[in-house]
Amino acid sequence: MAKYIFVTGGVTSSLGKGIIAASLAKLLQERGYRVTIQKLDPYINVDPGTLNPYEHGECFVTDDGAETDLDLGHYERFLSTSISQANNVTTGRIYQYVINKEREGAYLGKTVQVVPHITDEIKRRMTLLSLKNEFDIIITEIGGTVGDIESLPYVEAIRQLQWEKGRENCIIVHLTLVPYLRAAKELKTKPTQHSVKLMSENGLSPDIIVCRTEEPLNADVKRKIALFCNVRPEAVIEAADADTIYDVPLHMMQENLDAICLEKLQLPMGNEPLLKNWKDFLKKLKNPKTKVTIGLVGKYVELQDAYKSILESFIHAGAVNECKVEIRNIHSEHIDQENVKSSLSGLDGILVAPGFGNRGIEGKIISIQYARENKIPFFGICLGMQCCVIEFARNVLHLEAANSTEMDLHTPYPVIDIMEEQKNIVQMGGTMRLGAFDCEIDIHSKSYEIYGKQYISERHRHRWEFNNKYLSDFENNGMKAVGKNPKTGLVEIVELADHPFYVGTQFHPELKSTVEHPHPIFVHFVAAAIQYANGRKSRTNVEMGSSN
Ligand code: GLN
Repeated sequence: MAKYIFVTGGVTSSLGKGIIAASLAKLLQERGYRVTIQKLDPYINVDPGTLNPYEHGECFVTDDGAETDLDLGHYERFLSTSISQANNVTTGRIYQYVINKEREGAYLGKTVQVVPHITDEIKRRMTLLSLKNEFDIIITEIGGTVGDIESLPYVEAIRQLQWEKGRENCIIVHLTLVPYLRAAKELKTKPTQHSVKLMSENGLSPDIIVCRTEEPLNADVKRKIALFCNVRPEAVIEAADADTIYDVPLHMMQENLDAICLEKLQLPMGNEPLLKNWKDFLKKLKNPKTKVTIGLVGKYVELQDAYKSILESFIHAGAVNECKVEIRNIHSEHIDQENVKSSLSGLDGILVAPGFGNRGIEGKIISIQYARENKIPFFGICLGMQCCVIEFARNVLHLEAANSTEMDLHTPYPVIDIMEEQKNIVQMGGTMRLGAFDCEIDIHSKSYEIYGKQYISERHRHRWEFNNKYLSDFENNGMKAVGKNPKTGLVEIVELADHPFYVGTQFHPELKSTVEHPHPIFVHFVAAAIQYANGRKSRTNVEMGSSN
């Protein structure tokens, strides 16, 4: 039987429940347990797929095509295992299911209510991943903060599940904030006490309290929290601010979070976690030998969460190359022909980001032209790849006003066009080309060198595609479709041969980069940027008359 760990949050949002959950999962995985993590989000959207990135950051897509919360990205990056639709459930999805059942008459004339019908469905989802007997421990992160109106059914469902399964099979890790008052030079435990009291009013009491703090928790503070929140002092865990999220598993290991959970769940301790690969990664991350600056050209750059997986992929790839990758955010709306040179000066690589709609599109195209003509390493993802196709069509093939029909329905040269099966879709949610698709790589290509294999599978999230009507024109002029879907012939990767690094992918490689398996395209892109940076340094030296 699977055992359950619930991770709840108190005091405020943004304390990093997802990172704590992922770190705990990593440690338990190291001890030899089969662990998975799921997130239950208390909002009414059926999934985050229709949410604006400004609202909720990036939408993370799984192999099975689920559009999920960005925390699920952390789960995969930490655990190096692939998760699925079942790992992310929202209130909207729960209500949708219950209401559909009601319409089918499944409730046999009964009044359908939050308790028991919604809470029963929440419990069914909480335990769904246990059915195939694939996991020993299921960690469930509850989105939002305990005490919010919308969290109540989840809190009640946990209470019932704990009652049904027994407390030794179902524990609660509560994450709170212990603020430091600088003027008084004191850590304050009252907000934590209040949030635990709020939980107890709803019938839950945490087994372990993880305290986010800027300052170390001394023994007195720990004892105070333990006494007033009714847990053992060793179950009060310090989560000090970390330099990087990747330090958190080590911090949690020092604080014994995993061991205390196992003790509460009455499970054997398993192997001592060594985290060897993890520590190697951190060592390289923290001791870079070189530095490059990559321009991230996008229209959501003000909000870092919008490009979460891309930024994390650069961290993974930077560590492999023992290189600090500094990201310069470049707002695509602000780029034009006049300022492109100054805006992109000093960059060692340019990444043009995914996106939707017209805003900022011309700035992306101008940046790509600059990268192509000046032979700066370039990587375009999804819309970024579509923009490099448009740029090539306009400036090399001289197909003036070439465009994607997403941006210009009446373009004379629709080099990017909507897929036939997408044309009649009216519902927006969950209807894009989503999830993993196969790709066959031309063995005479940079991509083949990068992947070291001919057949790959990568994740997608888009409606538009390269228009194969123009393919021969592109290929005859130097832009090659070196990756294609073997079944449909849809273009997956484009490359330019006479360029040090120029790769555009219709898929999203950033969704598959993990600490232990950094994505090869990012790794090679950073390597190309290092080479470019070295070349730039020697060019500058020559210009300045230096002989070494
Ligand atoms: N808007 C483009 C499409 O739907 C690209 C999507 C993306 O970048 N994820 O095809």
